[in-house]
Formats: sequence, structure tokens, C-alpha cells
Amino acid sequence: MAGGASVGFAQDGMSGIPEYVTRVRAQYSIELLYKDIPQPQGTTALYQEVHPRNYSKLLAFLKILEEELGRYPSRFFEFSQLQQIYLVEKCFHHDRPMEGLYNDRDRVILLEIARGSNPIRQRHNIHHELFHMMERSVQRMVRLDEEEWSKLNKDHFVYGQPSRYKESESFSSPPREGFATVYSLTSPQEDRAEIYACLMVRSQNRLLSKWMGSDPILKQKVEYIKRFIVAYCPEMDERYWDRLFKGTGNVPGEDGSREKENFSGR
Ligand SMILES: [Zn+2]
Repeated sequence: MAGGASVGFAQDGMSGIPEYVTRVRAQYSIELLYKDIPQPQGTTALYQEVHPRNYSKLLAFLKILEEELGRYPSRFFEFSQLQQIYLVEKCFHHDRPMEGLYNDRDRVILLEIARGSNPIRQRHNIHHELFHMMERSVQRMVRLDEEEWSKLNKDHFVYGQPSRYKESESFSSPPREGFATVYSLTSPQEDRAEIYACLMVRSQNRLLSKWMGSDPILKQKVEYIKRFIVAYCPEMDERYWDRLFKGTGNVPGEDGSREKENFSGR
């Protein structure tokens, strides 16, 4: 029968999904997996594969993913040796929903394609996991100075108590002096990944710049992260940041009208 059996779902072969997979493999040597995904080793996270009825959501996510990967200098992915990105419908860790994770052992990033379906959040999450990847791969060679980082925070600050802050408090002002998001309060690693992800998303970058004007701790953290990034990938210098959002026009989900949904990451 022409076109195969009619099952009522979009067939991935006709959806345009394989074209994205092929392009990303050719350009970045990264394998995108969205079915027959192996359980990542060394983690107790569980995931649910994308149901074919949600392939339109997967396609929308792939468009965003390709745009966000395109923000990086080509050499970035040579350094990273990122092997695979698993695109899943839902991901859990001990019954807690997760929007993404980086598995250092397999060099795999796992990203949820649909939860919330907020494109700004999806863009943010991609860079958040890429930051974890950078930090973990650099730690093999250089020990990141946790003491130097913790000195940037106010005295007596202890990570790990984000539940005291409501996410909604972070829309127009930082949840707390020195922090970009509520999730940043979880740990130094999440703090850094959140600031980095905000730098990489235009509307969040704009807010961060505004906040830095009156928040010297946040400003120092941003400078610390930029120093780390340029050490990791020399092409990501000040000129890179200056050019990052120039000439990209209106990016879907990036028109600033949804800033209220901006801040919340994993
Ligand atoms: Zn994280």
C-alpha cells in the first residue's frame, strides 16, 4: 500500500525530522536520537520516548535546536566531543520531572521536547545542558575553582534552598541579589549553568545586562563565566558576545513578548 499503513500519526519519514538529524550529524558530528533510545548509563533518570502523535512538537523543537547550535563557533563542538543528544517527551529523576540532563559518562545530553512548550525555555535549557557539558569536560583537565566562585556570593549564603523563593518573583527582578533565576539557588553548578543559559538567549541576556547594572555580584559572576567560556573556546571572546544577537532578526519565541515565561531552567 502506497505510503504504508495508515496509523493516523505523522510518519517521521515524511515529517522532515530525518533531514534535521542528517544535517546536525553532518555539521556538528552529533547524533540526534528520538526513538530506540538506550537508557543512559550511570544515571537513574528515566525518560519517555516521543510519541509519533507529537512529532510536530519534535519538529518545532528541532528547528529551535538547530538555531541554537548555530550560535556556537564551529570549533566549539570539536572541543566538546559531545556524542549524542537524546530528544525525549518526558524525563524524570526519582519521580521529579527534569527538562534536561547531561551524562558525562556517555557524553550525552538528554532534552525534553515538549514540557511547557515554551520556546524561550527550550532555548535556555539547550544552553544550560551545554554548560554542564563544558564544565564537566574541562574539569578533567583543570579543576574549576569552587572557592573562588563561592566567594562571589554574600557571606553566609548556602546553596540548596530554592523552595523559599517563588519562581514568579524572578520575572522582573532577580530572585535574590547575585542570582539570575530561582533554580540558580540550587547549587554552584546550576547557578553557573543558569547564568550562562541566560547569556545565550537574547531576551534573557537583555534582562541580565539590565540587572547587572545594579547587582555587582551578578556582574562578577557573568564576568567569571565569560572568562571560563573563552578559556574553553577561544572564539567565544568579547567580539563573539558583541555579535551574538546582531542580524538575527525576530527569532520565534524570542520577540520579548513572552519574557514573563523566561526564567526557569534545569
Ligand atoms: Zn542543570
